[in-house]
Amino acid sequence: MAKLTFLGAAGTVTGSRHLLETHGKRLLIDCGLFQGVKANRLKNWDAFPVSPTLIDETILTHAHIDHTGYLPRLVKDGFRGPIHCTRATSDLVEILLPDTGHLQEEEARYANKKGYSKHNPAKALFTEEDAQDVFPLLSPVEYGQHFYPAEGLRGKYRDAGHILGSAFLDLKTKRGDGFRKIVFSGDLGRPFDSVLRAPVQAHNVDYLVLESTYGDRLHEDMDPRKKFIDIAKNPLIVEAW
Ligand SMILES: [Zn+2]
Repeated sequence: MAKLTFLGAAGTVTGSRHLLETHGKRLLIDCGLFQGVKANRLKNWDAFPVSPTLIDETILTHAHIDHTGYLPRLVKDGFRGPIHCTRATSDLVEILLPDTGHLQEEEARYANKKGYSKHNPAKALFTEEDAQDVFPLLSPVEYGQHFYPAEGLRGKYRDAGHILGSAFLDLKTKRGDGFRKIVFSGDLGRPFDSVLRAPVQAHNVDYLVLESTYGDRLHEDMDPRKKFIDIAKNPLIVEAW
């Protein structure tokens, strides 16, 4: 018996956080920051729906801030479990989170100077130092390498082709004579890319949690290198794009 609760990225595209309760454990799949319009950003100040002290392990799909940016708060508020991720995601998180903390501090300083803020005095959601407290919990694995977020639950990362280190998460458990598999897609990339490996095909999936931000749109049939050169030559195109 497993229970899945969407704590973000529902009705909006940022703040990816999914709580999977299974095998006697509470697992958090991604731990993103809400970004974009102010109404969204304010959600980052709400208490986390489950006390971080009650979450056993966190599993990341990739390093983008809308999938990892809440980690410093989660740790500050008592999360102490391992944070599973690919090796490149771990390296990127160590760059991106302190940078985000630094920006939060800068923003608070500016708000205090200009005298606008919800809080008085304005505070950073987390600091650069808070972000560094996440590092000791990072537990990187290779693509395809098994890890066990709970006894009897096997995790594995496969290429998602979205950014360096991005992966979809394949969780498998024994059920009767066979297996049950749940896949969290994370964000997916394109099949042909000059730098990243193509997303791997998932097979025999019983439950699929799929990113669908652009689900109703097709990629334009164009050469991205040509588009890039056009934009570099004429930055105004970006506005119209
Ligand atoms: Zn992403």
